[in-house]
Amino acid sequence: MRELVIDLDAVVHNFKLMQSRTKALILPVIKANAYGHGMVEVAKALEAAGCTGFGVADVSEALELRDAGISAAVLAWLHDPEDDFVEAVARDVDLGIANIEQLNRAVRASEISGELAHLHLKIDTGLGRNGSTEAEWIDLIEATKAAVAAERVVVVGIFSHLSSTSEADDRAQVERFRAALAQAKDAGLEYELAHLTASDGSLAYEDAHFDMIRVGIAIYGLDPFSSHRSSEFGLRPAMTAKSVVAQVKRVPAGHGVSYGYLHTTETETTLALVPVGYAEGLPRNATGKAHVSINGKSYPILSRIAMDQFVLDVGNDNVKAGDEVILFGDPAVGAPSVDDLADASDTINYEIVTRMGGRFKRRYIGAAK
Ligand SMILES: *Cc1c(COP(=O)(O)O)cnc(C)c1O
Repeated sequence: MRELVIDLDAVVHNFKLMQSRTKALILPVIKANAYGHGMVEVAKALEAAGCTGFGVADVSEALELRDAGISAAVLAWLHDPEDDFVEAVARDVDLGIANIEQLNRAVRASEISGELAHLHLKIDTGLGRNGSTEAEWIDLIEATKAAVAAERVVVVGIFSHLSSTSEADDRAQVERFRAALAQAKDAGLEYELAHLTASDGSLAYEDAHFDMIRVGIAIYGLDPFSSHRSSEFGLRPAMTAKSVVAQVKRVPAGHGVSYGYLHTTETETTLALVPVGYAEGLPRNATGKAHVSINGKSYPILSRIAMDQFVLDVGNDNVKAGDEVILFGDPAVGAPSVDDLADASDTINYEIVTRMGGRFKRRYIGAAK
């Protein structure tokens, strides 16, 4: 009745497309259930396509990948003080390290597990989220060098993240990142991979790819700039959200439709009920602005989106119970785009796909499966 169709061929296509644009390694970011696409399925498809590492936020996400049999490198970078670094280190999860407290926990985890902790040191070059401050950076480098000498840790990478505020702000961060790398080098700290850009920076600043790029939204085929340009970049949206018409009925003119009567029928017409609501992640504030498609024709959602359902006024069109309703998908095959729904909902495509859930079932297609 409600389905998220995930095209794993599109995911692999997008991965290879990004690979073709750079000499750097690609680290697909599959946090938050792969932005709603299904973390384990996406990881398996990409691993089969030759992907050698993944990025997630939480250690628990990384461990879920290990439980599922993923053996590629996995980097987790967002930790609270309770996170279990011992299990992470024991199971070969790379840790993003933002300060000396986290470094010390990684060292302790190495002592307990008897394994080397693989680290990526994070420097805050201006985003103001996690990462070492520039003031503390040299102390973190020195403490890390001591842990390397004690054979408790290896430094796989040094990384940072752009604010995407403006090109000038991003360029300033690139320069601060270069300075942070130079400090590490001058201090004699060895590392393999410097990485800075996510999807947007990777598409916009080809001179700032360093050794690896962390690509999230582009892997799912969506435009990181919210500019409706995914097809221009050659990206293919991987998620199609669909449902079916649950019920149709003829009603007279003047019939109020759904809560608050935001829509009242103007003539005798057919109402088509679609069993998808905000419980599934369809934003309530898309009411009056979003469009969906049935039999290739686009219909506006004029009446209030409710928890479980919304209603379309389809006029005299031959819409029947059981007809397929496409909420969004690949515009190249005529589906409404995620970007349109995001615009209608006053948000970004990231939030739309990541929050798709509720009673939707995911179905995977593509040879990559
Ligand atoms: C989520 C995230 C990414 C991926 O961002 P996209 O814009 O989806 O490519 C990369 N790096 C970090 C640190 C992130 O948190």
